[in-house]
Amino acid sequence: MTQPRLLTGDRPTGKLHLGHYVGSLENRVRLQHQYECFFIIADLHMLTTKNSREDILESAENARHLVLDSLAAGIEPERATFYLQSAIPELSEINTLFQNLVTVPRLERIPSLKEMARAAGKEEMPYGLLGYPVLQAADILCVRAHIVPVGKDNASHVEVTREIARRFNGLYGEVFPIPELMIGDVPTLVGTDGRAKMSKSVGNTILLSDDEATVRRKVFSMYTDPARIRADIPGTVEGNPVFVYHDTFNPDRAEVDDLKRRYREGTVADVEVKERLTEAINAFLAPMRERRAAYEADRGYVETLIVEGTARTRDEVVLTVREMRSAMGLTSTWNRIRRRAEDRAKKIGAAG
Ligand code: ATP
Ligand code: MG
Repeated sequence: MTQPRLLTGDRPTGKLHLGHYVGSLENRVRLQHQYECFFIIADLHMLTTKNSREDILESAENARHLVLDSLAAGIEPERATFYLQSAIPELSEINTLFQNLVTVPRLERIPSLKEMARAAGKEEMPYGLLGYPVLQAADILCVRAHIVPVGKDNASHVEVTREIARRFNGLYGEVFPIPELMIGDVPTLVGTDGRAKMSKSVGNTILLSDDEATVRRKVFSMYTDPARIRADIPGTVEGNPVFVYHDTFNPDRAEVDDLKRRYREGTVADVEVKERLTEAINAFLAPMRERRAAYEADRGYVETLIVEGTARTRDEVVLTVREMRSAMGLTSTWNRIRRRAEDRAKKIGAAG
């Protein structure tokens, strides 16, 4: 029996971090046996905010890291198909065909796009960035995915995919499943600087590939309760990134509750809270470090996975485009025009 399909992925703008893990990667690992999994390396999506030659040159190395990070996190390579977006030109064709199934005001209402434009220092919205969710619909529907595990910042984009799929099916016939959205346990993980979102473009991350000493350094420079300038001052736990991370990555509930109580009372130093957090995050990352080392030792392995996965995905996408064109009647337009040209050529031939 064929399995339902899962699609998700990342932009090759850097290495994966704890936010990716809780927002999406954890669900990918959990669901990989129930679904046939496709993971996109979204380099065309990267262009919407980063498109210098240097950025593009760097994306190949970043693509390698995305795959390595995914394998380190527990994705099994024999079950997963990784593909490079820009190597599948038919995706751009699907994007073109989808563009007419959504309105500009609908896209303009999506808050995450405005945030991305602002974060990238753009004064006005680039056309490509406004169309980000349309291209994302192409990524998802090109393999006819049934489920899309993403972080909360991506939820409104997947909603556009669902609308586009419905509109396409309504206009031309049932070609696409309507994919389900799946948000991670922590919908948006706060950054180490206290900003709302840990983000690889911002640099407020703890990477899945950070070594023990780096994790320690990053945790010790983390933003906490700014009002708490001494250990005997009662502090606020709610929304405090150090405690958000404790809640997320420290499995010792009794220890976390004890630290919170003493923090509120003003009877624990930040140093102790951060020491315990360093230990918890390092323990969480330890098995990933081991798996990464094993995959890294196998030189060329990751590149081969991407090449083979891209070829396999492209075969699927070609079939989807063929079916879309046929459902839309675009194929028949082309066939009619060709037939008329042939008839004309025959007539001219007969006359001459
Ligand atoms: P960039 O800053 O370049 O946009 P990013 O860190 O936002 O990078 P993406 O590649 O855009 O990463 O996102 C990949 C996936 O990870 C998406 O599903 C996104 O929702 C999720 N994700 C990213 N950051 C977080 C976060 N801090 N918390 C939860 N999910 C996240
Ligand atoms: Mg992002």
